[in-house]
Amino acid sequence: MADTKLYDLLGVSRNASDLEIKKAYRKLAKEFHPDKNPEKGEKFKEISYAYEVLSDQKKREIYDRHGIKGLQEGGMDGGFTSEDIFSHVFGGGLFGGMGRGSGRKKKSEDMVHPLKVSLENLYNGKTAKLQLSRNVICKTCDGCGGKPGALQSCQTCNGRGIKVTFRQLGPGMMQQTQTTCPDCGGEGERIKEKDRCKVCKGKKTVSEIKLLEVPVDKGMKDGQKIFFRGEGNQEPGVEAGALIIILQQQPHERFQREGNDLYMSHTVSLTEALCGFNLVIKHLDERDIVIKHPPGEVIEPASIKGVRGEGMPIYKDPFEKGNLYIKFDVQFPENHFTDESNLQKIETLLPKRPIVKIPTGDHVEEVDLHDYDTSSAGGRSYGGEAYNSDDEDNHRGPRVQCAHQ
Ligand SMILES: [Zn+2]
Ligand SMILES: [Zn+2]
Repeated sequence: MADTKLYDLLGVSRNASDLEIKKAYRKLAKEFHPDKNPEKGEKFKEISYAYEVLSDQKKREIYDRHGIKGLQEGGMDGGFTSEDIFSHVFGGGLFGGMGRGSGRKKKSEDMVHPLKVSLENLYNGKTAKLQLSRNVICKTCDGCGGKPGALQSCQTCNGRGIKVTFRQLGPGMMQQTQTTCPDCGGEGERIKEKDRCKVCKGKKTVSEIKLLEVPVDKGMKDGQKIFFRGEGNQEPGVEAGALIIILQQQPHERFQREGNDLYMSHTVSLTEALCGFNLVIKHLDERDIVIKHPPGEVIEPASIKGVRGEGMPIYKDPFEKGNLYIKFDVQFPENHFTDESNLQKIETLLPKRPIVKIPTGDHVEEVDLHDYDTSSAGGRSYGGEAYNSDDEDNHRGPRVQCAHQ
């Protein structure tokens, strides 16, 4: 009575081809991989073990003849643990079992693609459509690169993928060097020119344009990554890597974002700063936010006021929102905007001016105020080192002097 348990585990018949076994395994491994299905770890180990045996010609022969016992007794099970399979197929992620095996990669590299989004997109959420080109397994040849059976062991390297050359260094001294086989590129296998798949030209993969729908959720942030597992480039015999979309928020003309808060600036006239004002803000969802600031609540230049709950929606909790902060500038009237008699009237309404007592005597000198001009002040910023009186410093740059002309 033949033991077929390992075939049953993969759901294939005893005469299944290598390709059928591989396909069945990949399908099951995806389904039961502990990353996705942690409680099915045992099942995954069994599947992996079945594949380990059935994908190896020698082990499969022994198993067919003598069952699992044969494998154990024949020493073919030598030290095999399913960790080997993990690292074989999944790059050792699960048990950190790297460093074993042939050093070939087990997973194709992740593809990273930026996606430009507006602040409106991040506020309202949207499904972005993206066209990407990626490599997929050629359907015509099923990733074999040619007709069934066209794959032949490379004759140059006898299927080992490496070429060994000897060089005589001196009498009785030989140097041995190993290089990647140039004829098969280290694959150990080649396809005859005439048997190559016409579609992929023997490369096993073809380029495909994929239309991807990227869900941009409310409250997502600049630099946030959106993962599409297994949607990266496909390569025969390895797990496809992930496709990673990285959001890039474009600058907004009115709002700046800081975490979940929004910032904007607004200029009010002196009249508004003193006597109150109305402000209408077009929000990112097209709502008009109306602010009626009452007279008497004075707006000081550079002051910041907040509006609770009008910032960005919070990611995964979009009914909660950050705050909106408005920084105010105050636009003062032009010089001589009205005549002196009006100014005197205004003064009667404003807070009393402080009384300054003017001293008398020889030490008193009256000067004029002029507008501050950075070019005549030596380009230095006001209030900085310009007042350093150290002699050594003074001859390094232009001496600061009063630009009274
Ligand atoms: Zn092909
Ligand atoms: Zn070769």
